[in-house]
Amino acid sequence: MPVPPAPDLARAWKRAAGGLARVLADAVALGAPPTCAGCGLAGSAVCHACLASVAGAARPHRPSPTPLGWVPAFVVADYGGVARDVITSWKERGRRDVAGHLAPALARAIHTALDDLAPADGGASIAIVPIPASAAARRRRGEDAWARVVRQAVALVTQELPDAVVRLDNCLRLTRHTRDQSGLSAAARSVNLGGALSCLRPPAGPVVIVDDIITTGATVAEASRALRAAGVTGVRVAAIAATSRSRGAGASSTLGACPPLS
Ligand SMILES: [Zn+2]
Repeated sequence: MPVPPAPDLARAWKRAAGGLARVLADAVALGAPPTCAGCGLAGSAVCHACLASVAGAARPHRPSPTPLGWVPAFVVADYGGVARDVITSWKERGRRDVAGHLAPALARAIHTALDDLAPADGGASIAIVPIPASAAARRRRGEDAWARVVRQAVALVTQELPDAVVRLDNCLRLTRHTRDQSGLSAAARSVNLGGALSCLRPPAGPVVIVDDIITTGATVAEASRALRAAGVTGVRVAAIAATSRSRGAGASSTLGACPPLS
């Protein structure tokens, strides 16, 4: 009678030990104090010093070269140095605990954009319109992390401006597949995004398009085009940060992080 093979005890033990290690690592991570997304200092998701990189007042921003049909845009931070580390940790490395530190920056940019709207642009309510994430971006990040930041920012603006009617409006839709924007030049981004968005139910009043990082401006320019094509007037843009480097229209971009459409 043949003898059944002995169980591979070494392999089984290795599997069990690996599983135990993952459980312990998760438990340690849950119990460990957070470390700063900017400098690694233990104690908070973003330490006081690094928070300063995204804590300034909002200012106008205009990319160079400027996309056709550009509308006034307002950003808080230059996308570089500590600000880049903080934002990238949230955007690309899954640091959800950083979102609460970015929402106030977006809220300040929205507030400044609202102040910039002319009285003629006024309406019963102001729509805050995020740019929809592409399927590629959702796959890479696992969730629409941007939506969480936008919701928090809108809540902050609503608290600050109790007399204004400010509401989130996901009226933009992707009408076709778009490529991952990472590594695309400004010209290639424009081609990639041209006509990619549509607005089926245009808001009745003015709109503030919200984005996380403005690089070439191709994404917000396409969002603005789609809204105006649907009859929306009074469009502004608010973002957390913008790259300050100017590039030629045909230059290859190595700007790293990309807008939510990417
Ligand atoms: Zn820090």
